[in-house]
Amino acid sequence: MQSAFPVLVRIIILGPPSSGKGTLASVLAKEHGVPHISTGDILRGEVDRRTELGQKAASHMSKGKLVPDDLVIRKIESRLSQEDCARGFILDGYPRTVGQAVALDKIAAPDVVLHIDVTEEEIIRRATGRRVCKTCGAIFHVEFSPPKTADVCDICGSKLAIREDDTEPTVRKRLGVYREMTAPLIERYGDMLVSIDGNGTPDETLERARSALRDVGRNA
Ligand code: AMP
Repeated sequence: MQSAFPVLVRIIILGPPSSGKGTLASVLAKEHGVPHISTGDILRGEVDRRTELGQKAASHMSKGKLVPDDLVIRKIESRLSQEDCARGFILDGYPRTVGQAVALDKIAAPDVVLHIDVTEEEIIRRATGRRVCKTCGAIFHVEFSPPKTADVCDICGSKLAIREDDTEPTVRKRLGVYREMTAPLIERYGDMLVSIDGNGTPDETLERARSALRDVGRNA
């Protein structure tokens, strides 16, 4: 699909945990020909490789808390300075605090912020049913996309696991953190922000996002 933004595409996807940011960001990134940058994925990679940042981030992440701004800001600034971001990027899960948004404005202010609006009840249902394969990375859901055999990966046969931050108390904690630390960004971005309903299927959310971006592109 032709990008609605001919020159530069800097899109932020904002939304609570399990709102579908990652799925949406990966499709939009392909459609617009820019990298999909997820701070959650970057941080999980650092934790798996036991880097210095990963060791500092791990305890915050497993408790459902945010990783401190200075660590995340430094990491994202280095990622955004890479060659592949010259035409723009889709940011998934960043910024999550006002401090991060201020830092981003100084190096690469966004063109548009897509806010995925999902009820808390739906988020709990999505997150607590998710099962991941730590061997091959496949993701299942007990209700929406169950594996053929309970708790066994269809692809590689490994035992499925619940991501540490997907347990119900942690999801509730993450929702509280979202309300307190991230939701204020909705107001901060003002006219630059477009809200879409994310309570439906991933395809419905994608269609709403595409249509919102077309409208923004037309008015740019
Ligand atoms: P996510 O996969 O985006 O839900 O992120 C998983 C976890 O990584 C979050 O619960 C935070 O602990 C951490 N994290 C991801 N992005 C950020 C960010 N922008 N600022 C602080 N912590 C983050």
